[in-house]
Amino acid sequence: MSFFKSEDPRFDRYVLGNAPVKQLATGFDWVEGPVWFGDAGCLLFSDIPNNRIMRWTPGSGITTYRAPSNYANGHTRDLQGRLISCEHGGRRVTRTEHDGSITIIADSFNGKPLNSPNDVIVKSDGSIWFSDPHYGIMSNYEGYEAEPENPCAVYRFTPETGRLEIAIDDMNCPNGLAFSPDESLLYVADTGRMYSSDPTHIKVYDCDGANQVSNGRVFHKVDPGKADGFRIDTDGNVWTSAADGVHCIAPDGTRLGRIFVPELVSNLCFGGRAKHELFITASTSIYKITLNRQGMQRP
Ligand code: MG
Repeated sequence: MSFFKSEDPRFDRYVLGNAPVKQLATGFDWVEGPVWFGDAGCLLFSDIPNNRIMRWTPGSGITTYRAPSNYANGHTRDLQGRLISCEHGGRRVTRTEHDGSITIIADSFNGKPLNSPNDVIVKSDGSIWFSDPHYGIMSNYEGYEAEPENPCAVYRFTPETGRLEIAIDDMNCPNGLAFSPDESLLYVADTGRMYSSDPTHIKVYDCDGANQVSNGRVFHKVDPGKADGFRIDTDGNVWTSAADGVHCIAPDGTRLGRIFVPELVSNLCFGGRAKHELFITASTSIYKITLNRQGMQRP
């Protein structure tokens, strides 16, 4: 059995014929938000329903990084390497300082609480971009049930000014997000409102030098399933979650190939010595596959 399927000759040089999709750890309920810490040599990820952030270290395995985690979901690192986290339970985005203290970056807009921040990225100018769909407050499974008071939107936070602004408000429920290598394009997954038949797809927007976002259009419709989280490699390909594993989408929107994962993939990130290892969060487990490709992740 092959771990992947090439559907375009461009995919062939991205994969290694003898590199397995390897399960690193299992026994969680729903894992999300992987982020690689090369300096600490470990992967952090959220086990959302169990209200904890876990740490996987090669050779040592699993330990708990933070519990309770306020039902944390997506994570990334800022330009100083600090952990940036989305919290369903806290309905906020936080930064973990180098001394371990936690700073609230955003928890409200227009005087009303955010919904349930889901996924977050940091641009090379230090601005923090996050999605705020309603999933984490629709039940008590991954947070605390509550009525949404703000629209499901993508926000941009500018640390220098402390300003929080809506960057995108024309999606049903934004989820994963990533910039193209030159940051002129912003990709955002729309996974649709719960209990709806909203279309689901990855959209792409132009992002100008003043961080203004425009011209949203459908980039790719993942099939089967939908894109929750994704990351970009140095060639600008989008590696996205799908119902059967991970799909690799070229910048022109063509699917180049698929990596098959035995559980439902939520998110992924690049890491390892050369940013060539793809860490995958999928239902109850985390997996890794080594690629012949490098991710855009910074640390
Ligand atoms: Mg997500």
